[in-house]
Amino acid sequence: MAELERQGFSVTVLAPETNGLLDLDKFSAAIRPDTVLASVMLVNNEIGVIQDIKAIGEICRPRGVLFHVDAAQATGKVAIDTRQLNVDLMSLTAHKTYGPKGIGALYVARDRRVRLEPQMHGGGHELGMRSGTLATHQIVGMGECLRIAGTEMATEMPRVRGMRDKLYQRLAARKEVQVNGDMQNRIAGNLNFSLKLPNCDQMIASLTDIAVSSTSACSSGGASVSHVLQALGNDTQLAGNSIRITVGRFNTDEEINFAADYLVQKIDECRAALERQPA
Ligand SMILES: *Cc1c(COP(=O)(O)O)cnc(C)c1O
Repeated sequence: MAELERQGFSVTVLAPETNGLLDLDKFSAAIRPDTVLASVMLVNNEIGVIQDIKAIGEICRPRGVLFHVDAAQATGKVAIDTRQLNVDLMSLTAHKTYGPKGIGALYVARDRRVRLEPQMHGGGHELGMRSGTLATHQIVGMGECLRIAGTEMATEMPRVRGMRDKLYQRLAARKEVQVNGDMQNRIAGNLNFSLKLPNCDQMIASLTDIAVSSTSACSSGGASVSHVLQALGNDTQLAGNSIRITVGRFNTDEEINFAADYLVQKIDECRAALERQPA
């Protein structure tokens, strides 16, 4: 975005609603007669919410706006049919779907006559679009991880969702837990919540028995509080004391039970410490 502005484009950044989803009327109203491109994440990397890409594409197309979708977090999690979705450009990456790092793809709709600029110049490989010898092992790795995801998805997602929902139910029973982002329009494996406990930042910073992604007011020094969680209307403390749990292909019920017990115990310890403090 900063790079586009540096090149002289004017960029409009739309804030989501408090559930993390884009309001389609606001999106439509933000398109100007000179708008050339809209870009939306299919699945958000922090809160896992799924945008209504088909509807957004339907807004873009009649107005001549090219529609780019970042689907890095979506492959293997939601069915993607670029034609049905009215998408012109879609970026993909292998390593978020159990594939190798360092390989991705850009889908370009053939019938939309998108004119792309090469990012690399040289030998003119791939019709001049990507000069340089291709890394065959990376390409095969990406193809294979997506093939596996395609065949596994139908059974994997309900299983992952079951585990995620179990965690969700255990945690949401604590009144200090505020789930971030819409729970309906959300990929199966994502859970993201903030803790309404003013004394929990040390605890969050020292969650060592499970692998979660967290920000705590003390670990971040207040500097790198999630812009996504703030865009949902959370203040810096709530956005700062957040935990993201991703349940994936290789998780087990035992691990989910362990994580739930562990987190509930930590939350209860924080609340108990707070209640012991003299008023
Ligand atoms: C990871 C990610 C990217 C970047 O992909 P890399 O292959 O790591 O460069 C882009 N967008 C989203 C939403 C992501 O989650």
